[in-house]
Order: sequence, then C-alpha cells, then structure tokens
Amino acid sequence: MTLFSNEIFTFSQKLTHHNHIVIVPHKDPDGDAIGSALAWCNVLLAKGFAVDVISPNEVPGSLRWMNQSETIIDFTKSGEVAKAKIAKAEILLFLDFNSLPRTGKMVDALTNSQAFRVMIDHHPFPDENVVNVLISDTAVSSTCELTYKVMVAMGLVPDKHASECLYAGIMTDTGMLNHNSSNPELYHIIAHLLEAGIDKEMVHREVFHSNSLSRMRLLGHALCNELDVLTSGKVSLIALSAEELAKFSYKPGDTEGLVNYPLSIDGIEVSALITEKDKGLVKISLRSRGDISVNKYSEKYFSGGGHRNAAGGEYKGDISKAVEIFKQTVESYFGWK
Ligand code: 5GP
Ligand code: MN
Repeated sequence: MTLFSNEIFTFSQKLTHHNHIVIVPHKDPDGDAIGSALAWCNVLLAKGFAVDVISPNEVPGSLRWMNQSETIIDFTKSGEVAKAKIAKAEILLFLDFNSLPRTGKMVDALTNSQAFRVMIDHHPFPDENVVNVLISDTAVSSTCELTYKVMVAMGLVPDKHASECLYAGIMTDTGMLNHNSSNPELYHIIAHLLEAGIDKEMVHREVFHSNSLSRMRLLGHALCNELDVLTSGKVSLIALSAEELAKFSYKPGDTEGLVNYPLSIDGIEVSALITEKDKGLVKISLRSRGDISVNKYSEKYFSGGGHRNAAGGEYKGDISKAVEIFKQTVESYFGWK
C-alpha cells in the first residue's frame, strides 16, 4: 500500500521511540470519533503503549459499550487530570477533526503541548499547521475506514474489540451504508472486520436501536410539533430550546440522526436542526442533497464547517436569534429566494 507512505513511516518511527500517547476525538463526539479513538486505543494498548483517550465532553451512552470506553477521560469533568496527561504526552493523536477549535475547551492545553502531533481525518480543509503528520483523505467514508487502512499499512492488525469500534464508526458516518459508501473497497474492509469476529448485531442494537422512552418522545415531539418547512419548500428546520430538551430529559446523543428525517420529505434539499445545548450556546446541524454545500453555508453564518452534505456549527446567543439568522439567510444563500 502506497497511500500516505511517508506520513505512515514517520508516525511508525515516532511510535518506536515514544510511549505515552494521548488520543483526542472532537467535541460532541459521534460514533466515528469515539470508534476511531478506541480502535487506536485498543491496538496501541495491545502493543504495550501507555494510552489515554481524552474527550472534550461527554461520550453518548450509545457508544459506551466499546472496549476501553470506561477509561475515556471527559475534559469537562476531569480537566486537571486531562491537562496533566496532555502536558506529559509524547504523541498526540487527533481523530475525526480538521482543526483545533473542534476540541472546544481543550484548545489551549493542546496548543501548549510539546508533543508530536498526528492527525487522521476525512474532513475537507485540514489545518496542516497544527500537526507534524497529517493523514487526511476526504474520499473515505469515515475516519474509522481511514484508520483501518493506516493500521494495516503499519502492520497493526485490529483485534475483535478494535474492529467493533471501527465497524461502529463506519456505520454511523455512512448512516448504515446509506451514503458515502459506494466504494467497493469499503466492503472489503467490512468483510475483514467481520472476519475479526465482530458482533455486528450487537453494534447495531447498541448504536441504532437502543432508545430511552424520553428520547422516543423527543423524536415524536420534534417531528410532530417543531418541524417547519420554509416557503421555497426546499428547506426544513427543527428548533429545540433548552426548556424543551430538559422536558424530554435530554442526554448527549439523543438528537443524533434527527436532522436526517426531514431530508426524506419530497422536495427538501436542506435540513437543519437547531438545538440550545446550554443557555446562550446554540448548535446547528445541517444535511443536504447532491452538490449543495452546507459546510460553506455553515462556515459563513455559524462559524462551522464539515462535509459537503453533513455540516454543523455554533451560535453564541439566543436560540430565537439563531433561528432568525437561519431563516433569513438560507434560501437566498442557495438561490431559492
Ligand atoms: P453533526 O450535525 O452530526 O453534529 O455534525 C455533522 C458534521 O458537521 C460533523 O461530522 C462535523 O464535520 C461538522 N460539524 C459539526 N459541528 C461543527 C462545528 O461546530 N464546527 C465545525 N467546523 N464543524 C462541525
Ligand atoms: Mn467522521
């Protein structure tokens, strides 16, 4: 395999001389971020390295079945422990994000670290200035797919546990092979993961088919009472305030996938979900069809980014203001008004 041979060589060389590795997924981590982080964690632990996974914030319950997930350090809860680990780290491994601001409050600790930095990611426009080794490929389905390729190139064979993490990440980022999954190579990788003995049914049950009653009711409420279609008929919006989320006992991960539903309505080209995670901090999730680039829109109006058809961003302020900005800009931005 010639893919990233220089980068992989440099990373491998570093690994032979250094021991303490800190792995960092992005803020509000999803299956691809935690899956790739724990796949690396499992594989490197098996090789005798000292490994810590530090998540910028809470890991969704639907991912906590992964082997070693109980060892993940939550930066928002154990900031001092995490900072000490980062300061001591010899290698930092950044997974599933393309720039340091995606790590939220960890930015300063990571910026100050003297460690050798490796980034493995599949988002467009990676910030190459913040890392020593960049392994970035926007053509792959997920960071987990890229991780598998890199591991194989390094002679690191993922065991059953690591393979289950990788499989989960591939499934979440492709919407269970609905999108970004037309490359036959991906199916060869999945075949290898199955050969490693993964419990595929368990992964699907844990990640996609485990709901609390309150999460089910939140989904019903969002689709029945809060789904709005703008005048062009091409844009849908669901907005959920902090009060509404609290009423349905919101937990991280509970709105995962919600933004995808309206995209299946006839005529809808862009779907948005606006949630008030904390008072004064609003998160936007965007999905689109075909060549409509919601990452560019998100960057312009919501300090965000992401992939062409799946992007997100933030707004500091009131949710009603964020909704107003969205409604006033989205149709004209895409030329539908
Ligand atoms: P989600 O809507 O699932 O939270 O995020 C979809 C994609 O949008 C993510 O994979 C990530 O690439 C991107 N994204 C989400 N939130 C942000 C953000 O605040 N900033 C940036 N730059 N990208 C984001
Ligand atoms: Mn990803």
